[in-house]
Amino acid sequence: MTATEVRPRTSENMAPVDMMKALVYHGPGKKALEERPRPKILKPTDAIVKVTKTTICGSDLHILKGHLPMCESGRILGHEGVGVVESVGSGVSGFKAGDAVIISCITSCGKCSKCKKGIYSHCSDGGWILGYLIDGTQAEYVRIPHADTSLHAIPPGSDEDTLVMVSDILPTGYECGVLNGRIEPGHTVAIVGAGPVGLAALLAAQFYSPAEIFVIDIDENRLATALRLGASSVVNNTDGKAVDAVMKMTGGRGVDTAIEVVGSPATFAVCEGIVAAGGTLANVGVHGEKVDLHLERLWAHNISITTRLVDTVTIPLLLNRLRKNPSSDPSPPVAPKIS
Ligand SMILES: [Zn+2]
Ligand SMILES: [Zn+2]
Repeated sequence: MTATEVRPRTSENMAPVDMMKALVYHGPGKKALEERPRPKILKPTDAIVKVTKTTICGSDLHILKGHLPMCESGRILGHEGVGVVESVGSGVSGFKAGDAVIISCITSCGKCSKCKKGIYSHCSDGGWILGYLIDGTQAEYVRIPHADTSLHAIPPGSDEDTLVMVSDILPTGYECGVLNGRIEPGHTVAIVGAGPVGLAALLAAQFYSPAEIFVIDIDENRLATALRLGASSVVNNTDGKAVDAVMKMTGGRGVDTAIEVVGSPATFAVCEGIVAAGGTLANVGVHGEKVDLHLERLWAHNISITTRLVDTVTIPLLLNRLRKNPSSDPSPPVAPKIS
């Protein structure tokens, strides 16, 4: 090749330095770890982040089950992670190469009418797009649009294993479960589903000093973790009798807040069965199929049902909360098992 010869860059002759490993979705039930071109800055407000930690999410599983058909074959999955800024576009002023960052699972422009209301999840040029409508974080590098409002600086000395949960898991449990669930001091709370988001809701619920928190699941390991993280009582619903158990533990009243963190008709039905008169049913789960709403029983029950896609507006607050625990363990002292 002479000095003047121009050879267009193609995927065949691309140097290895331009390639990266990524987990790619190929239609329902199909995924593969592949070599893909590294992302490039496309708009002045973009940043490229080298991903150092990422994780999987229930919504990744919904994509893989084919529940979210807007996710096209060829998409790099993932919307959670921490990393180091590799490069920024000319319009990014809050971050520079080398900065350690948390990637918000929600992309927000910070300027549209929805962003001004704090509903980042419905941003007119963002929302949940990472690993869904654009390539995501389960890769060595990711392009983050609207970097100034979609990245958060990592406080020096932080534990990345903890902070990766601030991308989505902790704000989802807090915003969709605890804030929407209107938990107040002295309330009784039930969390149906003790996966990472259910456990995040369990931790965040304790900000508000509820009297009791019941955690319901079918996995003994998860229930044991829930007890360690502050549940007052746990119920294994393998026998399908969780509603009876919770009604018995509450003297027939039910709970002030029932948080659904699975996204299935059966677990939503448990919440409908245990929410007290005047209570709140806060849905967190991603639902991939039709769910029955039993208004024939609930119409006179003075309940509220809330839904929400996480907005991640509480990430700064959660970072402050974690910063006050140098061990990066936000869990309170172990509560005794009372049943
Ligand atoms: Zn997620
Ligand atoms: Zn916006």
